[in-house]
Amino acid sequence: MNKQLKEIYRLSAQLFPNISESCKDCNICCKTYGWLLKQEMEEFLKKGYPIVEINKNLYCFDSFIRDKNNKRITNQIPRCLFYKKRECLIYKDRPFDCRLYPIKIKFQRNKLIIGLNLECEYILSLREEEKKKVRRKIIVFFKKAPQTIINDYFNLMERVHFISKPKSFLMEKIIEMEKNKGIWKMIE
Ligand code: SF4
Ligand code: SF4
Repeated sequence: MNKQLKEIYRLSAQLFPNISESCKDCNICCKTYGWLLKQEMEEFLKKGYPIVEINKNLYCFDSFIRDKNNKRITNQIPRCLFYKKRECLIYKDRPFDCRLYPIKIKFQRNKLIIGLNLECEYILSLREEEKKKVRRKIIVFFKKAPQTIINDYFNLMERVHFISKPKSFLMEKIIEMEKNKGIWKMIE
């Protein structure tokens, strides 16, 4: 696996260390396309995971349900094919986008907003002090993590934003980013 991807997976594991405790009793996750970075798509293809390509530059897991002629997709936002019995069957291999959750990305005009999904049971269970710690960790993470992958990820989210109608959810804003000459920079 690409060294930087390995490193970013390692760092992201420190963001929400006790989250699995909340996840055990929650069943709302993983209704998602499973968007993949290009490097991840290549790794997952080697493993034989089903992947679809959209518009020649967007890749996601093929969790779609088709009609009986196998022509038309019948579900809009699928539940990931790897989600079974409230667990992720590929937890150790899961994509970066899944590792970041409940961090979510939104776009407002030309800005990218990084925030926390306030519908996540884990986030709702945090006391204000704990939430402050999480916010600080997120800021440090986005400053210290391998920037090439972070930039690729934001570009991926931007392409997703251009082709999809965003799901509505409550989000607490933590960071704003702006793109300058192809590079996303934090607005301090
Ligand atoms: S919404 Fe939050 S608590 Fe629930 S399964 Fe997803 S990450 Fe876990
Ligand atoms: S890969 Fe795992 S964590 Fe990611 S959406 Fe699928 S089931 Fe959920």
